[in-house]
Amino acid sequence: MFNFILFGPPGSGKGTQSIKIAEKYNFAHISTGDIFRKNIREKTALGLKVQGIIEKGELVPDELLLEILEDAMNSFKNKKGFVFDGFPRTLNQADDLEKILWKKNEKVSLVVALEVNDDEIIGRLLKRAELEGRKDDTKDVIENRISIYNNQTQPLIDYYMAKNTFTAVNGIGGIDDIFNAICDKIDQKI
Ligand code: AMP
Repeated sequence: MFNFILFGPPGSGKGTQSIKIAEKYNFAHISTGDIFRKNIREKTALGLKVQGIIEKGELVPDELLLEILEDAMNSFKNKKGFVFDGFPRTLNQADDLEKILWKKNEKVSLVVALEVNDDEIIGRLLKRAELEGRKDDTKDVIENRISIYNNQTQPLIDYYMAKNTFTAVNGIGGIDDIFNAICDKIDQKI
C-alpha cells in the first residue's frame, strides 16, 4: 500500500488535487473535513458534536479523529493506497496514524506539501466562500484557521522531514501543472 499525505494550509488545493491523485493511482481518498461536513449535513451525533468547532475554524479533538479515521480506512477495498487530505493536523494525530499503519504493517510512504503564501490563501478562501458558502470561509475564521495551521500543523513538516518522507511542490499555478508536479514526486517513490 502507498500511504500518501497531501499536506498544506487551508485553501492550498489539497481537496482538488487529492481527488485527482486518488483517481489516477487507485488510492482511497480520505478527507476528514469531508467526513465531518457529511456528518453535519446528516445531523449525526458526531456532526452535532463538531459543528460549532468547525464553524469557528478550530480543530476537532484528536480522539474524534482517531475514531473516524480507522472506520474510514476500513471502509475501502481493493485500493492500492490512501491519500490523506486534511489529516494529520497535529503531532498527536501523526503519532496515531503511525500506530494505525503499524498495526497493518504499513507506514507513511510520502508527504507532499503544497506551498502557497498567506495572501493567496486568503484570496482563494474568500472566493470559495462566495461560490460554496462554507461557514468556515469568512475572513475572521479564515485567519483563525491559518494561525492554527501555523501553530499546530506546520510542526509536522519537521516530524516528517526527520523520517525522510517529506517534500514540497509549488501550490500556485495551473491545476494540471501542480498535479503533474505531485505525480512526479509519487512516481519517484512508488
Ligand atoms: P478541511 O476541509 O480539511 O479544511 O477541514 C474543515 C474543518 O474540519 C477544519 O477547519 C477542522 O475544524 C475540521 N478538521 C478536518 N480535519 C481535521 C483534523 N485532521 N483535525 C482536526 N480537525 C479537523
